[in-house]
Amino acid sequence: MRDAALARNVPDLLRDPFHRWLDKWHAIPLLMLAVVLAVWGIDGGGAFLAASLVTWGIFLRTTVQLHGTWLVNSAAHTWGRRRFATHDDSTNNWWVALLTFGEGWHNNHHANPRSVRHGLAWYELDLNWLCIRALHRVGLAKKLCLGSPVARHSGKNSGADPPVASEMLFSERK
Ligand SMILES: [Zn+2]
Repeated sequence: MRDAALARNVPDLLRDPFHRWLDKWHAIPLLMLAVVLAVWGIDGGGAFLAASLVTWGIFLRTTVQLHGTWLVNSAAHTWGRRRFATHDDSTNNWWVALLTFGEGWHNNHHANPRSVRHGLAWYELDLNWLCIRALHRVGLAKKLCLGSPVARHSGKNSGADPPVASEMLFSERK
């Protein structure tokens, strides 16, 4: 069931060996970073500094990130405005968007879940999208999927893959 959902929503990621590896072994980069922070702390000041760096860099950071994700899936399904009449209770919530670098434009996301961009209007600050667009400009991100939430909402989506960034990245303005 999980693979079926992944195949439907992110078929390109499912085919990518790096992302498949990361999905299976997601703890490895975290453990590697913990070791680096611990060694750095011991080298720079001893066990207390090492414990402090690991606490802030691994445990606290991961906890805050997880709560941010859950905040999107709770607050942005409770409070906010709805641009699209999606078949759920998702909302665009500005304060959740500020706390999560743009993920709070959650109704936009539900209307077009494959799009890399969540903030659609100029006032919908989406730092995640701006970072990904910057990575695209320097060649580190490719084939960004933007889709078309209006077409999806109106039922005119043909079911074909949405346009990729090279086709509409800098011309789309909602
Ligand atoms: Zn949601």
